[in-house]
Amino acid sequence: MKHIHKEGLEGDYLAAWVDERRVELRPLSGKDRFLLLKNARDRTWKRLQTDLLREQGYLCAYCNQRIQNVPRQHDRDDYISVEHLVPKEKRADLSLDYRNLVAVCNGGEKRPKTGNERELYCGAAKKNEEISPKLFPTNPGCEELLAFNFTGRVALREGHEELENGLRLLNLNAEVLVKARAAVFETIIEELDSLEDSQVEFLNALETEHKQKDDSGKYPEFAGAVLSFIQNHFHA
Ligand SMILES: [Zn+2]
Repeated sequence: MKHIHKEGLEGDYLAAWVDERRVELRPLSGKDRFLLLKNARDRTWKRLQTDLLREQGYLCAYCNQRIQNVPRQHDRDDYISVEHLVPKEKRADLSLDYRNLVAVCNGGEKRPKTGNERELYCGAAKKNEEISPKLFPTNPGCEELLAFNFTGRVALREGHEELENGLRLLNLNAEVLVKARAAVFETIIEELDSLEDSQVEFLNALETEHKQKDDSGKYPEFAGAVLSFIQNHFHA
């Protein structure tokens, strides 16, 4: 998980949109309010999706897989889905609040089934359950809560056991995620092994690379996991 700094929307256009429809929105459930925005015949929804993607460097807020906005290809796992940190079913007043909205992946919903099963993760697994705000990617301390081991699995760091239920709801140890992270970590270890004197420089460069967006505004995939992995296993 990588911390998402909520910088605000240009001109606060979402709040303005809500304000203009105050009377119409008031009697609606959180779900219906959100649907109204998605189905509105203006650019607000598209603009919001684009801004959330940019803000997050094109990574899923929970698993940090690459996500994008690819019209006419909605059946891809990396297609953006907009997620409510506090479920819209619980807090209608936060259903159109930019600070409660993040971009996530499809959580395995569009992946082929294994037998009869489809293992879900991220928003697709969490559904309308609540998780601790400590586990929100918008919490500046979220990166320090998780530890990744060499096999790609994630666990809570010592002293944060009370967040176990939230981590389970997000299912960040879904098989596809564990495998993908293990592959990334393996590449890092292979590279490290091939270096003799310049391991420190390599790790520093890797950290810098994963802390900042590239020229196209993207973070590398699994940026949060890579940073945590380096921090845990290679820094004394
Ligand atoms: Zn995800």
